[in-house]
Amino acid sequence: MKHLALSTWIAELATLRDLLPVATPDLSPSAVARWPAHAFAVCPRCGAFFVSGSAPQPAPCGPCAAAPPPFDAARSLFAYAGDVRSAIITTKYAGRPFPVDAVSLRLCEAIAGRWRDLIPDGAPPTVVPVPAHPWKYFRRGFNLPALIASRLSRHLGLPFDPLALSGTRQRLPQARLPGILRQENVERAFRVPRGRNVPPAILLVDDVYTSGATAEACARALKCAGADSIVVVTVARAVS
Ligand SMILES: [Zn+2]
Repeated sequence: MKHLALSTWIAELATLRDLLPVATPDLSPSAVARWPAHAFAVCPRCGAFFVSGSAPQPAPCGPCAAAPPPFDAARSLFAYAGDVRSAIITTKYAGRPFPVDAVSLRLCEAIAGRWRDLIPDGAPPTVVPVPAHPWKYFRRGFNLPALIASRLSRHLGLPFDPLALSGTRQRLPQARLPGILRQENVERAFRVPRGRNVPPAILLVDDVYTSGATAEACARALKCAGADSIVVVTVARAVS
């Protein structure tokens, strides 16, 4: 309870920061095509960005070596900074249209290219978005991960299941919370609806990977319901 009060207070402060005008990015397809993808090596398991090095894949990062996450792999395309961060913030908090098609195209190129090994031939995954809490969905009128996941499934010719997971309670935005509160914030925040069959292979889509707590909570719920393999793909990844 004490944590919740603290986390609410921190999120309120952060809201003030998010209300400050952010740079208005150029969201044209040609501008999005030039957004710089992370070019160096990543942790093969959680996709943590390393600041140097390239293929062959390096060893897992320290946290993954100590306690592997419940998903099989995670990858993010961009650092959550600059125009990418501005685009996501102005979409989520100011209702500005997000360049869903252009960003989905960039993700598809990565999935078909350097992330190809994550999706084995012959076992096409079902694309599942991280759900929004119903109240947040009602307030915003959209769920950004679902918009992106829908386009991805269409581009890649994969099945799409936006109802495989549901949000069970209101969460504070992970990007606004210090690490110590993120796990608590998403604990039991997702569940597989009763009686719903979960596909064996899942491509879980979110907009931002912050600490991994959201992806882990979703993966735990999906694996408890019978999923075998879960690959997480996000547009951006928080970097310090
Ligand atoms: Zn890792």
